[in-house]
Amino acid sequence: MTINCPRGTADIFGEDIKIRDFIIETAKKQFQLFNYQEIITPAFEYTEVFNRSIGESTDIVKKEMYTFFDKKGRSITLRPEGTAAIVRAVIEHKLYNLNQLLKLFYIENMFRYERPQKGRMREFWQIGIEAIGSDNPLVDAEVIWLLNLIYDKLGFKNLELLINTVGCSKCRSNYIKVFKNYLKDKKNSLCQDCQERYDKNPLRIFDCKIQQCQQILKKSPVIFDYVCDECRSHFLKVKNYLSSAGINFIVKNELVRGFDYYTRTIFEIVSKDLESAQNALGGGGRYDNLIEQFGGPKTPAIGFAIGLDRTAVLLKQLNIPYESKIKAVKVYIITMDENFNEYGIKILKILRDLEINCDISFVIKSISSQIKLAEKNNYTHVIIIGESEFKSNIITIKNLKTFEQKSFNLISEKDKIKEFLK
Ligand code: AMP
Repeated sequence: MTINCPRGTADIFGEDIKIRDFIIETAKKQFQLFNYQEIITPAFEYTEVFNRSIGESTDIVKKEMYTFFDKKGRSITLRPEGTAAIVRAVIEHKLYNLNQLLKLFYIENMFRYERPQKGRMREFWQIGIEAIGSDNPLVDAEVIWLLNLIYDKLGFKNLELLINTVGCSKCRSNYIKVFKNYLKDKKNSLCQDCQERYDKNPLRIFDCKIQQCQQILKKSPVIFDYVCDECRSHFLKVKNYLSSAGINFIVKNELVRGFDYYTRTIFEIVSKDLESAQNALGGGGRYDNLIEQFGGPKTPAIGFAIGLDRTAVLLKQLNIPYESKIKAVKVYIITMDENFNEYGIKILKILRDLEINCDISFVIKSISSQIKLAEKNNYTHVIIIGESEFKSNIITIKNLKTFEQKSFNLISEKDKIKEFLK
């Protein structure tokens, strides 16, 4: 009997690797422009790291964490998201500094025991950043700008950038009182999940996809009308700075996010081309109290995470070109006889020393079928080795697109070979 990979996980290979590489390389280029440094944290942490930060009443902590006891009986959890673990690391290594913004990025796999469907996996990858050490709204704008820029550079056109404020811990609790009061006599009409959310995490009701709950929310008071003066002024500045950077955004009053640690600015980048339940490609927000909550000094921060798998799905679905427009040079060496293999290896060695991507055929077939194979596998040039080449140290390189071909002495004309293949 064969064994498949576990439900909600995937093997990634072939073209999908190229798409991922394209996304990762594009993101990394922007991180470099914005001065972010990479951080790698363990794939598992003590469970407390997530319980304390994400929030006991969130879906993630309540039912989606891969938690187990290790051989010494310690509770361990596979990371379901990046921020909490990075905050733990920043405090552990005292990386925080209020005089200089700490800018970190990560590319890591995450684990959530969710109901798998297209764009929702149990193991998935996130590319994320954290900007730690400032509550300046300029940082919010820069972080949102970076998120937007990555999707711009990837070639997406029809995305929406949604922003909102959820206030600080003080003004949010005022709003929650007003919101619960509004829902009080409608509570029984909410779905079962939302009735539970009403008591434990009322803002999450805004995330419910059920029509009836959405209907009830239509006339709800909005948080922006209840935030304190400081939070209001912060949000207005974020909006102004985004406009100054020429970034289009939509203020969505009903936007909420799945973690309890967010304060003030939250944001999401969504696609209308993805199914509505899974339409968010990435998102993030401010978390001004989290570091202090973890036992560190009061250090405001903000970050985002992009879903790598979901971004790859959409890139493929929309046929966005992900390979470099100039086709990379790839040479295929075709031997006509096993006796020429040693000469073939000599050519491979010289081409690879010249940093030219090349391969040799491992089957002896007719030249025409080998050329067809080379074309199918995106080789740009072929070198056919026959008796005369073998005897004279000569190679003839043929461009498969222009059909131009030229012969070179393998030993004395290396520079010319490189020039021809450029
Ligand atoms: P979150 O950490 O929940 O804010 O999610 C940020 C992004 O990660 C989302 O917008 C998705 O693109 C991606 N993501 C979250 N959960 C999953 C999942 N279960 N499977 C695939 N991608 C996910």
